[in-house]
Amino acid sequence: MSFFSINKSFKGGVHPDEHKDLTENSAFEIMPYPTEVILPLSQHIGKPSKVLVKKRDLVKSGQVIAEPDGFISSIIHSPITGKIKDIGKTASVGGRPQEAVTIVAEGEDEIVFMEPLDAESITSEMIIERVKEAGIVGQGGAAFPTYVKLMPPKDKNIECIIINGAECEPYLTRDYRYMVERTKDLIVGIKLIMRALGVKRGIIGIEDNKPEAIRMLKEATIPHPEIKVEVLKTKYPQGAEKMLIKVAVNKEVPPGKLPLDVGVVIQNIRTAISVYDAVVKGEPQFTAALTVSGFGITTPKNLIVRVGTTIQQVLDYCGGTNDDARKVIVGGPMMGVAQYDMSAPVQKATSGLLVLTEPEMKHSQETNCLRCGACVDVCALNLIPKDLAKFSKAGKWDEAEALGVTVCMECGTCSYNCPANIPLVQWIRLGKQRVINIQRSKQNVS
Ligand code: SF4
Ligand code: SF4
Repeated sequence: MSFFSINKSFKGGVHPDEHKDLTENSAFEIMPYPTEVILPLSQHIGKPSKVLVKKRDLVKSGQVIAEPDGFISSIIHSPITGKIKDIGKTASVGGRPQEAVTIVAEGEDEIVFMEPLDAESITSEMIIERVKEAGIVGQGGAAFPTYVKLMPPKDKNIECIIINGAECEPYLTRDYRYMVERTKDLIVGIKLIMRALGVKRGIIGIEDNKPEAIRMLKEATIPHPEIKVEVLKTKYPQGAEKMLIKVAVNKEVPPGKLPLDVGVVIQNIRTAISVYDAVVKGEPQFTAALTVSGFGITTPKNLIVRVGTTIQQVLDYCGGTNDDARKVIVGGPMMGVAQYDMSAPVQKATSGLLVLTEPEMKHSQETNCLRCGACVDVCALNLIPKDLAKFSKAGKWDEAEALGVTVCMECGTCSYNCPANIPLVQWIRLGKQRVINIQRSKQNVS
């Protein structure tokens, strides 16, 4: 049977230039130890972590330097051996200064590992505790503390997990490299997540532009029939949670609901690898794995770097930027964030750094709406992006809410497809935030 006999998809979506070839054959390299790291206390969704160290304290790699502050928060470990230089505001991804701990390297690198645990006999509770101790946050973009996702409310009946191997953002090949370089570890990581959640069914969703990974995963899962490899059509945003659930298990997540409301938990490939590393090797999450790509970087690579390494250091390690480099993006080109301060650090969930040249930056001159409907055609959630953007821009929050602005997953597909180059998703994101704030304040009053 052909590996590619099944390839499912969803309505809408786009086919941006993939540019995966820049790095798909670049095996992970471990970037040398940095001389200084900057660790934001908010590298995850939820409350910032609480600092446990003070200036001039000596720390080792893997030592806990900040603890969770509340249920949705995370532990942070020192990624290097050295001395606490400062605790205060520093540059961060996205531009807004953030509270962070700066550590300067001193002496030989000493790594404090946790005790390795037996992946065969470990209990669900022990896995969840280990994931919490390791400070693992989701790697699919939102950086949600993983241990929280492994503890769904008791009234939710979780039937299966879906491992997101779509990696549908152009350029990024980090997850692909994990699928081909650490296939067996990945399967163990998935089984650990399944045990933590008490589910008997796992699905790896993977786009059909990754034939080698599909072949290797299909082979590796033969002894594990509880894990199925589901081949999906290559189309953006195939990796979005709602799309993935629709094509993998044919369930619709209603507006305002979460995957766990339809009995599904989604985890990312790198998250499953981090779970493996935490349990089997006792390794805390003090490294980030990312693709550095784009035609503006001298040598595109896939890298493992210590968290807190600055973006500039990473770019320098890849030979620096070319003369025609115009823009740096943290993440992928569709959902990533433009970055202007290269002294900002790589964080736990950073999946990519792109250095783009002028021809790669498709959209430039904005014109008036042509009423062509191209944005409506590609929205996988059946929204009307042109109207959502129009109402958001005009501050008409009631109208934006009525049209479902809060449902938007900010995938950027509509902006990508707009011939008038209107930054639709930026306006929609603004409208969504305002409407959510209004809804919350009404709830607080009532
Ligand atoms: S950004 Fe929102 S409105 Fe635009 S295509 Fe994606 S889901 Fe639809
Ligand atoms: S794609 Fe752009 S130009 Fe066409 S209707 Fe939508 S907003 Fe207007």
